[in-house]
Amino acid sequence: MFRADDYVKAESLAEAYELCKKRSSLVLGGMVWMKMTGVTKRTIVDLSGLGLDKIEETDEAFFIGCMCTLRQLETDKGLNAYFGGIFKECTRHIVGVQMRGCATVGGSIWGRFGFSDILTCMLALDAQVELFHEGIISLEEFAARPVRRDDRDILVRIIIKKDGRKAAYASQRNAQTDFPLIACCVASKGRHWFVSIGARPGRARLVRLKEDDFDTLPQLAAEAAGNFTYGSNMRGSGEYRCFLAEVYTRRLMERLRGRSVRKQ
Ligand SMILES: Cc1cc2nc3c(=O)[nH]c(=O)nc-3n(C[C@H](O)[C@H](O)[C@H](O)COP(=O)(O)OP(=O)(O)OC[C@H]3O[C@@H](n4cnc5c(N)ncnc54)[C@H](O)[C@@H]3O)c2cc1C
Repeated sequence: MFRADDYVKAESLAEAYELCKKRSSLVLGGMVWMKMTGVTKRTIVDLSGLGLDKIEETDEAFFIGCMCTLRQLETDKGLNAYFGGIFKECTRHIVGVQMRGCATVGGSIWGRFGFSDILTCMLALDAQVELFHEGIISLEEFAARPVRRDDRDILVRIIIKKDGRKAAYASQRNAQTDFPLIACCVASKGRHWFVSIGARPGRARLVRLKEDDFDTLPQLAAEAAGNFTYGSNMRGSGEYRCFLAEVYTRRLMERLRGRSVRKQ
């Protein structure tokens, strides 16, 4: 059972960061994941009073506060209109509406869970992560880092540039609301492709490919899927995941292009 002696509702990010520098403290998102652990902390730090529960849109980018819930991602009109509904698609299978109304974007990205639909989706958009102490870094770099207990920074928001890319998302589950067996997000910008595959069962990673180097989209999809390693667990074998990854990558590419395109 998760236990804590003290609860602090932070009045500023600086206060939260100071508190979190102590090993005995922990910053929390929606606590949906933490409540299932056996972690014991002296102080838990709540960021819910800092106005970080908003999705803001400018002409250049979307700014998603760390305390936004998965339900906000799912229902945000601006995000879903710009990125072809992928935020609805990547969240709608996660457990249920009540749970998605509690789990946060900050907790989902900070956790860098291998099964994460959110990480898979945002990687293909070349999102950036704003950390209170370290500043802004790419999500790709952040996702590749190990999750370390002594990393005391705070994830403040996610930034997604409006760079004109189109995106599509798909996941496969053995049963509705289970963790994904495979998660796949494909984005395209001009002749550049961005493919992120998660739940392999390893953590999502991104590959970039140029269409000019391939004759057909199926070839491009095979190359993209072949860039990842796939493991086995109780949900499926590595071989099956590899097969699914190639099929979903191709289908998403074809959806974005409207058809299979041959080089002239
Ligand atoms: C039963 C169940 C099924 C799930 N199924 C799926 C699924 O199918 N797909 C999927 O993508 N996800 C799934 N999830 C994960 C879920 O979507 C969230 O990612 C998870 O609950 C973490 O979010 P949270 O707000 O609860 O974080 P918390 O539990 O509060 O925190 C998680 C970790 O992140 C840290 N943290 C939180 N916020 C910050 C911050 N701003 N800065 C620094 N560190 C922070 C905490 O210290 C902690 O270490 C599932 C979770 C559960 C419990």
